[in-house]
Amino acid sequence: MQVPYLSYRKMHEDVRSKIVQAFSEFFDDAWYVSGPRVEAFEKKFAAYTGVQCAAGLSNGLDALRLALQSLHIGKGDEVIVPSNTYIATVLAVSYAGATPVFVEPDSSTYNIDPDKISEAITKNTKAIVPVHLYGQACSMESICAAAEKNNLYVIEDNAQAHGATFHNKMTGSFGIINATSFYPGKNLGALGEAGAVTTDNKELCETVKILRNYGSAKKYYNDVQGYNMRMDECQASFVSIKLDHLENWTAERRKIAREYDESLHKTGDLILPYTAEGATHVYHVYMIRTKYRDALQKYLEENGVGTMIHYPVPVHLQKAYHDLNFKTGDFPIAEEIAETCLSLPMWPGLSAEEMQYVCNTIKKFFAAIVNR
Ligand SMILES: *Cc1c(COP(=O)(O)O)cnc(C)c1O
Repeated sequence: MQVPYLSYRKMHEDVRSKIVQAFSEFFDDAWYVSGPRVEAFEKKFAAYTGVQCAAGLSNGLDALRLALQSLHIGKGDEVIVPSNTYIATVLAVSYAGATPVFVEPDSSTYNIDPDKISEAITKNTKAIVPVHLYGQACSMESICAAAEKNNLYVIEDNAQAHGATFHNKMTGSFGIINATSFYPGKNLGALGEAGAVTTDNKELCETVKILRNYGSAKKYYNDVQGYNMRMDECQASFVSIKLDHLENWTAERRKIAREYDESLHKTGDLILPYTAEGATHVYHVYMIRTKYRDALQKYLEENGVGTMIHYPVPVHLQKAYHDLNFKTGDFPIAEEIAETCLSLPMWPGLSAEEMQYVCNTIKKFFAAIVNR
């Protein structure tokens, strides 16, 4: 049996006819960028997230960049980021000219550890960027309390957690302005590049809308040096259609996660995902940990099962961040996660048979280790 890590084809079967219809309308209307579809999606996504305003953008990295810029975060400022995240979170801080300050994750949720945030705050700290990694909401009450006490902004990176909540409040609605991505592989994905910011602050939202469009509120009148970070009309209609299915797809991801939990419980040295009190998990990624990670990944691959590693090298040890002068051992929790983590196939449409095959293959691997 072949079980891919992710199958867009199967995932998209549910929406095929609506997407094709939307494309046909988009084609006939012949208006391609920044139009009524983007506006309609922004309203719908803001309502879904429970905020006043959303601005559709080119991608998630640009959303993070414009969120930081709208708050005038720049040179001389420090921004707290998790040591365990995708590099985009950190790149956005670097692009702003600010300095990323890494904080270790909680070793059971893998999200930024709120208890370690205070130690990282200096007189230059301007913001905290919590990332709801793998789909689990961060402990937003502790994070927001630390921010408030120290007069810092919170900017959520919600690229991986569409639909997750902390104490029943949606991720993407806690920070002053928050960023998300609709990269195809995300829980809510476009069929190409797209992203957005979400905020209750209409002024910040307007600032982002101006920045994304060459710094212009009125065509050919440019108030600031902006960018081209606009969203495509067709992507807006595709994500809008997919948003209607998100709750069902999330339920399906959770069902698959429960089945993995039950089936893999007490298998070898596996550490399974843990969801913290108050948080919900939307399983963008179902990540397990084992000291046999590399051998297990190879064995699964040989048996037709696709897996991924999120992420093999922590940001502080990436060549791209050589200039920050970090070394192995500086963020040991993030480093240990990088060495032991493995993400199993997880997508709406993954069948029970496929999932059982993945679990059985993993059990065979561990049985072989024990018998060796
Ligand atoms: C995907 C991702 C991003 C960047 O989104 P793009 O649309 O690919 O630019 C940022 N942060 C996290 C945590 C992500 O997973």
